[in-house]
Amino acid sequence: MVVVGAGPVGLWTAAELALGGVRTVVLERATERSPHSKALGVHPRTLEVLAMRGLVRQFLDEGVPVPRWHFGMLENRLDFSVLDTPYPFMLALPQLRTEQLLEEHALALGVRVLRGHTVTGLRQDADGVRLDVTGPDGEHARTARWVVGADGVGSAVRTAAGIAFPGTATTSYGYVGEVRLTSPPVVSAHNEHGALITVPVRDGRYRIAGVDAHDGGAPGPFTLEDLRATTTRVAGSDFGMHDPGWLSRYGNATRLAERYRSGRVLLAGDAAHRHLPAGGVGLNVGVQDAMNLGWRLAAVARGDADPSLLDEYHDERHPIGEQLAEHTLAQSALITATAPDGTALRSLLSRTIATVPEFALALARKLSALDVAYPSAGHPLTGSRMPEDFELLRHGRPLLLVPAGSPGPASTAAAAELGVEVVPGARSWTDAAVVLVRPDGHVGWAADRAADEEVAAALRGLGTRFPRATRPDQAG
Ligand SMILES: Cc1cc2nc3c(=O)[nH]c(=O)nc-3n(C[C@H](O)[C@H](O)[C@H](O)COP(=O)(O)OP(=O)(O)OC[C@H]3O[C@@H](n4cnc5c(N)ncnc54)[C@H](O)[C@@H]3O)c2cc1C
Repeated sequence: MVVVGAGPVGLWTAAELALGGVRTVVLERATERSPHSKALGVHPRTLEVLAMRGLVRQFLDEGVPVPRWHFGMLENRLDFSVLDTPYPFMLALPQLRTEQLLEEHALALGVRVLRGHTVTGLRQDADGVRLDVTGPDGEHARTARWVVGADGVGSAVRTAAGIAFPGTATTSYGYVGEVRLTSPPVVSAHNEHGALITVPVRDGRYRIAGVDAHDGGAPGPFTLEDLRATTTRVAGSDFGMHDPGWLSRYGNATRLAERYRSGRVLLAGDAAHRHLPAGGVGLNVGVQDAMNLGWRLAAVARGDADPSLLDEYHDERHPIGEQLAEHTLAQSALITATAPDGTALRSLLSRTIATVPEFALALARKLSALDVAYPSAGHPLTGSRMPEDFELLRHGRPLLLVPAGSPGPASTAAAAELGVEVVPGARSWTDAAVVLVRPDGHVGWAADRAADEEVAAALRGLGTRFPRATRPDQAG
C-alpha cells in the first residue's frame, strides 16, 4: 500500500492502514518537514478520534484549550464549552507538532516514510497501480495494489487519476503573519479597512491573520511592512511587531474532488477538498476522512472485504466535503464584508449568536464536526458518533456493545469469526439493547430489541472481518 504525502492526513491514513494489518509506505516530496505550521487548531471530533487510538493525552498535555471560537470572524464567539464531548474546546497546537506526534504514532505501527520522493504520475489497471516517482536516486517506478493521494491541494495523484476538481476560483486573498509584539494586541477587529484576528502561539509569538480591503486582494509576496501597514489600518496600532517568522497569503478558491475513489486510487484531505482556512477545520476534516477510509481500505487490501466497501467512503465523506465548501465560502463572505450591506449582515448574525443559543450551538457543532452523522435507515443511532468510551476502540476493531444482558450464541459466534469485540455492560449514553460500533467510532447498527440471529446478520453486514491482532507483515 502506498500513501502519497506525509502531511497530517497521509500520516493518519498510513497509521490506520498499519493498524489494520497492512504494510504501508508513505512517499513524501519534501526532504524535511516545513517549520511553519499552517493549522493551529485541533477540534473536538479530532480529539475524540485521537482518543480512540490512545493518543489524545499527549495532545492535551501540549496544546492550549480555547473554549470560545469564531465563525467568519464574527464579533460574538461560539461557546464550545457547552458541546456534548469530553473535549469541549478547540485545542491550539501548531500543525508542526501535530504532524510530529502523528508520525511517531505511524512509525511505531510499522509505517515507512520515504522523504525526498515525488510522485509525478500514475497508471492503474485491474491488478494495481504503477507510480512514477522521482527520488534521491533519480526516476523509478513503484507498484502498489492501492494508492491513497493525501498530497494536498495541488495533488498529483488526483490529476494523474483523472479526477475532476470543480469549484470556484480565488476572488480574494487573506494573509497570515507570525511575529513578536511589544504590546498586547486586540483579539480581533473588523471595519471598513478589513478584518484581523490575533492568536498567541508558542514562545511569546503571535499569529495575525486577516484580509485587507485596500490591497485589492492581491496575490504575491507578503512582507513585515505589509503586515504592519494592514494591522495599523484595521486595528489602529502595529503593537510593536518585530522578529517575523512565517509571512504568507492564501486565497479563497473552493474546490471538491468529483469522486473520492477512482478504481484503486483514493483521495483524502486537501487533495479532495480545498477552501479558505476559515474556522480552522481543514486538517480536522482530512483526519476524519482518513479515519473513515482506513479500516475499509485495510480490509479490502487484506482480502477480507469486497472493494465496494470503498464506495461507501465516497458516499459518506463527499457530502461532508460539500458542507465544508459551503460553510467556508459563507465565512469568506462574512470576513471580506466591509461595505454597509455586508457589515449589516455581520452584526445581525453576530447578535443572533449571542441571543439564540440553538443557532450558536449548530455552528459550534459544525466547526467541531460533532454534527457528523452518516445518513442511514433503521435505528436513530445508526450513523451517529459514539460520544464516549473511545478507549474501547484502541485496537481499531469494531465493538458489539450489549448494554442490556449478554449476546446469544449466534452473535457470539459471528463476533468471534469476524474479529468484533463484544463489550457487555450498561452505557450512560444509550438505552439501546445492542449497538454495533465501527472502527471509526460511528454506529453501524443498533436495536432496542433484537433476536440473536438478527444481531449476527448485522455483524456480517459490516462487510468484512477484522484481524485479532495487527499483522503489519501483509502486502498492500
Ligand atoms: C494559514 C492557514 C491556516 C490554517 N489553519 C488551520 C487550522 O487551524 N485548523 C485546521 O484544521 N486546518 C487549518 N488549515 C488547513 C490545514 O493546514 C490543511 O487542511 C492540512 O494541512 C491538510 O493536510 P493534508 O495532509 O491533506 O495536506 P498537506 O498538509 O498539504 O500535506 C500534503 C503533503 O504531500 C506532500 N506532497 C505534495 N505533492 C506531492 C507529490 N507529488 N509527491 C509526494 N508528496 C507530495 C507535501 O509535501 C505535503 O507534505 C490552515 C491552512 C492555512 C493555509
